[in-house]
Amino acid sequence: MKLIRFGNPEEEKTGVILPNGNRLDVSAFGEDFDEQFFGSKGPKRLSEWLLKNESNCPEISNEIRLGSPIARPSKIVCVGLNYAKHAKESGMEVPSEPVLFFKASSAIVGPYDDVILPRNSKKSDWEVELAVIIGAKASYVSEGDAMKHVAGYVLHNDISEREYQLERLGQWVKGKSCDTFAPLGPYMATTDEIENPHNLRLWLKLNGETMQDSNTSDLIFGIPKLVSYISEYMTLLPGDVISTGTPFGVGLGLDPQKYLKAGDIMELGIDGLGVSKQAVKA
Ligand code: ZN
Repeated sequence: MKLIRFGNPEEEKTGVILPNGNRLDVSAFGEDFDEQFFGSKGPKRLSEWLLKNESNCPEISNEIRLGSPIARPSKIVCVGLNYAKHAKESGMEVPSEPVLFFKASSAIVGPYDDVILPRNSKKSDWEVELAVIIGAKASYVSEGDAMKHVAGYVLHNDISEREYQLERLGQWVKGKSCDTFAPLGPYMATTDEIENPHNLRLWLKLNGETMQDSNTSDLIFGIPKLVSYISEYMTLLPGDVISTGTPFGVGLGLDPQKYLKAGDIMELGIDGLGVSKQAVKA
């Protein structure tokens, strides 16, 4: 199933994309796509509900804005340097265990919303990433059991202010958490939609020029390892997001370095997870 949320910011209603591409309003189901929903087998209950109620669900016009396909999660856990060539372009060693950092969940926006450069930002950068949505509470989960705790996948642009991230004292979180720095979507695909999450092409174009073009088969630490590893340090709640890291081709790694400016257009996609597009504004 492909889950979407649509409407004005903070007022999004729930919907699904049918196999024929039609978008249906399923707000009559009465639940948002949040911790409660994912933690109570929501996708399964919704698909059963749809069998009986699909004909009564209104279609969603193509003009209507899409928001993040999931409600604001308790946390976004990001994985750094999880592709070898990206670690190299960042001037860092390939890590011996996953590098973790947080991104504020207040940074989440919809897949076609504008990305607003923070005041005085000179080094905002793009990062196409496969993000995992947790489907069941995970604490000290083994790698063998990890995939049972995954509800699905979503396309994420982990926008990053490199000066805030790398040149200011302290942790990476400052460069990752600005408002609008986490476009999610267009939709969340449940796990049954994606045959192998470790073999998905992911790409990003800046103003039509391909900057990133890689495959999740190059991930250093795969999804079972990440879920298991993170769950040793914190409890992952249903609806939480793990962003698995970005491949080679960010602005930081270019010579000369290249960063986002007002008027730029980012377009990105992952096999099976759709395409998103953001305009950059000052
Ligand atoms: Zn990232």
